[in-house]
Amino acid sequence: MTLAPTVDAVEFPAEALYLDGQWQTPAEAGRFEVINPATEEVVGVVPVASADLAREAIAAAARGFETWSRTDVETRAATLEALADAMERHRLQLGALASAEIGTPIRDALAGQVDLPVRVLRSYAQLAREYPWDVRDAAGSSIVREGAGVVLAITPWNFPVHQIVSKLAPALAAGCSVVLKPAELTPLNALFLAALTEQIGLPPGVFNVVTGKGSVVGEALLQSRGYEVVSFTGSLGVGRHVGAVAGDAIVRATLELGGKSPAVVLEDADLETAVRTTVRNCFVNAGQKCNAPTRLIVPRDRVGEAVELATEVAESYVIGDPSDERTTMGPLVSAEQRDIVTGFIAGARAEGATIATGGDRSRWDRGFFLTPAIVTDVARGSVLAREEVFGPVLAVLGHEGEEDAVALANDTEYGLSSEVWSADPARVAALARRIRAGQVRVNGVRTPALPVSPFGGYKRSGLGRELGELGLDEFVEVKAILGDPVVE
Ligand code: NAP
Ligand code: MG
Repeated sequence: MTLAPTVDAVEFPAEALYLDGQWQTPAEAGRFEVINPATEEVVGVVPVASADLAREAIAAAARGFETWSRTDVETRAATLEALADAMERHRLQLGALASAEIGTPIRDALAGQVDLPVRVLRSYAQLAREYPWDVRDAAGSSIVREGAGVVLAITPWNFPVHQIVSKLAPALAAGCSVVLKPAELTPLNALFLAALTEQIGLPPGVFNVVTGKGSVVGEALLQSRGYEVVSFTGSLGVGRHVGAVAGDAIVRATLELGGKSPAVVLEDADLETAVRTTVRNCFVNAGQKCNAPTRLIVPRDRVGEAVELATEVAESYVIGDPSDERTTMGPLVSAEQRDIVTGFIAGARAEGATIATGGDRSRWDRGFFLTPAIVTDVARGSVLAREEVFGPVLAVLGHEGEEDAVALANDTEYGLSSEVWSADPARVAALARRIRAGQVRVNGVRTPALPVSPFGGYKRSGLGRELGELGLDEFVEVKAILGDPVVE
């Protein structure tokens, strides 16, 4: 596939961030090079913003909120649709940019970083029109829902456009303004989105993008206390800190954190389909996926067969240039991330696990590539059985029957997602209800085209939900007006 530039390519100034409806190149700021993880070449340069600039962004968003919160619902719904249209017009350019920044194969970048967020925007346009903004309760009081205020959005690098839009769409629908601090590794798609909001005429200050280091500008934004909601997606460690600051400031925190999701296969399931589907799902985006099913839990007497099948699938990946449509796995996002993953593999081996395949980086002299790994003989309670790797590593574990499988599946501090497999509808339905996780996927069901099912974690996988009506609730305040002389 050739990625011809779109006719009217979106342009935004290099080394600038988007604040108060303007592209600004802060004089005092440092610079950060965005690296293509496949080629190690520079894709773009963005400013590393200071703490002062963070405060400016919050002030701009406070002004933006004054304007945006007073718009009517139809204006906001139409704006979301206009943004979706703009993304579609620039589909190839945005997909190529996301692929170059993340290293994800172009086909996946188009599907996950353009088409999916477009559907999320459209779903929120629809939800905004149907949402109970102003209704009467049983006592005759008016229950008015309105935008909570300035939103601080902090996002990671793995599915960046989707993660940003999952916050931006409901926030804008509610009438909130947003300051976004995108991941340092993948800021360009965020600036691209800002350029699109400029193109569609979103008022100044409603969407601001401040690039830079989480520990500096992210921390300054967090400590600014000039926001009413912080919506964070990222690691458990940083999420814990965000939640603590939010708790002290008495602002709402939505936390989408990590996962160690199980795929539970009962003895009556079609093992081959279950294993093949799980491996492919686990290795999407080179395994850098918070809801990846990274623990394949199969009947003990079928572990050997499962490992053999999983190995075959793992070895069938076409690993290489993400811009090539034939590529099915790209590199990891950074050298650091690859080192973390190889560290987990080495650690598992030291704890007695067997690496059936993968974990090899020697084939490449540039780019942060790694062959996907299938690991067996993983001891219960070991690091690989419990901790998130965030890379292409699947642990295969054996269970002694349904009860044991449930215990194993729930034996983690995370609870983001899960898969259950059985040929018996009643059994699989009951099993789904026993898994302590925010999502359960039955027998390999795919993600629905309509992205409104809530996404989020039980236990330490987070607080709150994204997508659908629950995702909108996160950005809404509720006011009861007693004795309201309602004029219909
Ligand atoms: P991370 O290190 O927690 O970073 C996430 C974001 O927080 C980045 O923008 C980061 O900025 C920023 N940040 C770091 N320190 C900060 C601070 N002190 N104050 C404010 N912001 C700060 O996570 P990551 O390494 O980018 O992403 C991987 C993790 O995200 C994994 O654990 C994964 O499971 C999780 N994740 C969860 C979901 C979900 O929906 N549940 C989805 C995807 C990923 P810098 O980039 O500049 O460090
Ligand atoms: Mg990080």
